[in-house]
Amino acid sequence: MSMHTIRALLFGGDLPPVGAKVFAYFQEHRLIIETMDMSIEVTDLIVSVGGFEHDEMFLNWLESSGEKWALKPYEARDIQMVIATAPLSLKHQLGKWHGRKQHIKMVWGTIAAILAFCVLSVLVLWWQYDRALTWVVEKIPVSTEEKMGNSILEQIRAEGGITETGVAVKAVQDIGAKLTKGSRYQYQWVIKTDKTLNAFALPGGIVVVHSALIEKARNADELAAVLAHEVQHIEQRHSLKNSVNSLGWAALLTVTLGDVSAVAALMAHQMGAMYFSRDLEDEADRLGFQALIRANIKPDGMVTFFQTMAKEEKGDAPAWISSHPATVERIKTIQGLIQKQPCPPCVSLSFDWPTIQAQMLELGSDKKSAS
Ligand SMILES: [Zn+2]
Repeated sequence: MSMHTIRALLFGGDLPPVGAKVFAYFQEHRLIIETMDMSIEVTDLIVSVGGFEHDEMFLNWLESSGEKWALKPYEARDIQMVIATAPLSLKHQLGKWHGRKQHIKMVWGTIAAILAFCVLSVLVLWWQYDRALTWVVEKIPVSTEEKMGNSILEQIRAEGGITETGVAVKAVQDIGAKLTKGSRYQYQWVIKTDKTLNAFALPGGIVVVHSALIEKARNADELAAVLAHEVQHIEQRHSLKNSVNSLGWAALLTVTLGDVSAVAALMAHQMGAMYFSRDLEDEADRLGFQALIRANIKPDGMVTFFQTMAKEEKGDAPAWISSHPATVERIKTIQGLIQKQPCPPCVSLSFDWPTIQAQMLELGSDKKSAS
């Protein structure tokens, strides 16, 4: 074995697929494979790149019979030995091998970097989406938000069934005023003749209460609890955020540019069915509770009304959500708040509740006779 021996794996012929360990060296213009007693003309060799890391070298040749053979230097130092001891006629190819190796590495490196960047971007967007939305929504001026809300309200008015006078609306307005003292919004309160147990908040300070909600609420405290919750969807800009989110950012651009009517038409149909995340509902509950305490209104209505809602859900909902844990959990959370934060000055609201409910029943029969 000379000093210039290359340890290598030989592939081809009857050799096993994993190759055979051999010793090789260059002599003049020939590659000699000691162990196998083979000798190949260097000009017949083709150098190629291989391996997962693209740092392996193959010296390939064809026998006169057409059979393929390959010699793979065993380690980096064996590759170095090939480069150092190969005759001049092979140097050009070996130089190219080095270049090709670097090129392939670079291409794969670039692809890996691009993929990593894409994956990272998606993750960052996913994690940060809510933050980005909050940031954008915070930039919308209150005047634009109010314009949006008013346009939606116009659409809802145009659909009919809206009541803006009478004892019930007066009660809603009075309770609402207590709950929105010092707000940056000019609140508007309307009642919509609708037999679903619902109330919803429009961006910019508009609260729509369904007539069925007043029919089902057992007292003014329960109505106050619902209003306190809805007001927080406005104060915390949940309604605005949800509108932007559900209508898409293009709609936001339209709103920003000042043309809210097209967007409003779309939103009018969505607002009543708007869905808030559990987090936002919890926030509206907690802050709504605090608003009731600040207004010295007994917060127990929140618990009792949610219990009514839980019962309604059981009655109407299909079996798979009949045990709706969300409402049950919300009740527990509020009961916890009441225990933690007792409010001695808080009292029940004194409204002539039966008269208010009677107006709702009238609305119901008006609608029936009208249709
Ligand atoms: Zn809500």
